[in-house]
This record gives sequence, structure tokens and C-alpha cells, in this order.
Amino acid sequence: MTPVVAVHGGAGGRIFDAPEAAGVCERASAAGLNILRGGGSALGAVQRAIEVMEDDPLLNAGTGAALNEDGRLELDASIMEGSDLGAGGVAALSPFRNPIAIARAVLEDGAHVLYAGAGADSFAREMGFEPVRLTEMRTRRSIQRLLARQRDGASEPDDDLDTVGAVAVDRFGRTAAGTSTGGTVGQRPGRIGDSPLIGSGTYADDEAGACSTTGLGEAIIRECLAFRAVALLRLGVPATEASSATISRFKSRVGGRGGLILVNGAGEVGIAKNTDAMPYAVSQLGHELISGF
Ligand code: ASP
Repeated sequence: MTPVVAVHGGAGGRIFDAPEAAGVCERASAAGLNILRGGGSALGAVQRAIEVMEDDPLLNAGTGAALNEDGRLELDASIMEGSDLGAGGVAALSPFRNPIAIARAVLEDGAHVLYAGAGADSFAREMGFEPVRLTEMRTRRSIQRLLARQRDGASEPDDDLDTVGAVAVDRFGRTAAGTSTGGTVGQRPGRIGDSPLIGSGTYADDEAGACSTTGLGEAIIRECLAFRAVALLRLGVPATEASSATISRFKSRVGGRGGLILVNGAGEVGIAKNTDAMPYAVSQLGHELISGF
């Protein structure tokens, strides 16, 4: 098995940011591959790749994540490993630098799969994560996007989507997937999207493969998009076909707009979207890095 990491920087319509976002994806997938090169697990690679994207203010996760209607951050993230189907997630989390690391702590702790709101915050503190001030994670760009949304309304629903996600397979054939987001720009307080939900935003099963999705959460949740893609892999559908068939049904069944990345147990990657842009990058040992939008 040749270890591989694939990442996305979110499906959306704002093509002018996409080349720069693809550059962030390149750094993220390379950082994930470094974990695998050093003998690390697919789970560790996914976490590292997502942390790089959370730390970059351009993308809608961690620092620079989308603000809700009140100008506050409510962060969502989930992570899953495909060997034992271990999973962890946080939803509507207060400002913490790396929500994906907290989702990983939920997985490792093992008592529950998903914590939301104040309970997610106190779990994070108990695990030794330090909350940060909103002003340290809110950026000029995230404020401008909120003001633009409040001024112009939601005329182009996919303009403000750009969640991050990663999938990986390590040298032992172990798979993992993860997803992290601030949600949609100007979302109502308490709104939770697909990204922290196992089966919708994230799914991994070594018997089939791993998937991370992006797009309008309200449609993704109803379609169980990540699970649906992995179910096709389980049937032996090739990775590229599984990704495009899942996105085409997403559109025809629930009118969904978005995209996904997936990887099967053989390390073959599938990438599909039905929005104008979805920055991505793929790093595989012994291969040249691939990226695009
Ligand atoms: N899926 C995310 C959500 O609905 C948004 C995105 O993918 O950009 O919260």
C-alpha cells in the first residue's frame, strides 16, 4: 500500500480565491504525508492536514472560520478511523484554535462520539485545550464576508461555502477521514451543519474507504453524503466513479450543491464537485503532488 493523503478546501463559487486556497491545500496534504512518511497513522495524517488548513485564515475552519449571524464563532469538526470505526466530533464549539484536535480527543476518550455547545467547550478544557479570544480567530476577511452576506442576502447560496476536509490511507491500509468548518456565513446561532456528523460530513471504513464532504449542510445531512459515497466503494465501484455518481445523485435527489473527496482501500482517490470551485490537493509517496480547483 502506498500511503496517500487527499484534502479539500471547500466547495464554493468564489473562484477568485481558489488558486490561493489550492496552495493551502498543497501545504496541508504535504504535512499529512509527512506524518505517514514518518510511520504515522492515517488518523494522524488527517488531523495534521486539517490543522494546517484550520490555521490558515483564508479557509473556513479554525482561524478565519465563518461567523454566525451574531458575529460569533460556532465551530464544527469530526474525525473517524476505519479500522474500528472509532469517531469523534464537536459542534457549535467556542473559539479554540484546532477543533479537529478536540474531535480527535473525543475519539480517543471513547465515552461519546459527539459533544455540542457548552458541553463541547468543557470537554475541550478538561482535555487541556485552551480557549482563545474571539478576536484572535476572527479575521478582517471573515467580518467582511458576514457584512456582505447581511447586506446582500443569500442570493448565491454556495458563495460562502469553504469548509476543509482530509482523507488518508497509511501503509497498513488503515483509512481515516476528517472535516472542520465554521459553518455557513451568517448562520443562525445554534445551527449545526453536516461537518461534525459521522455519515454526513465524514466517514471511514477500512473495508471500503474514506470520505469528507463539503457543501450546503442541510442537503448533505439529508443525503448522508459521506456514508453514501463509502457505500459505493464497498460495492467495488472505482473511486472516480463513486465520487461523481454520489455528487450527481446529491444534485438530482436533494438539489444539493457541493463536493467531496474520497479514497478507497487501494489508495485510489476520487474528487467531485458541482460548484464552480473546490480547491484540493493529493500527496502520495513516490508521486508528484497534484492540486487544483
Ligand atoms: N458543509 C458546511 C456546512 O453546511 C459548509 C461547507 O461545506 O462549506 O456547515
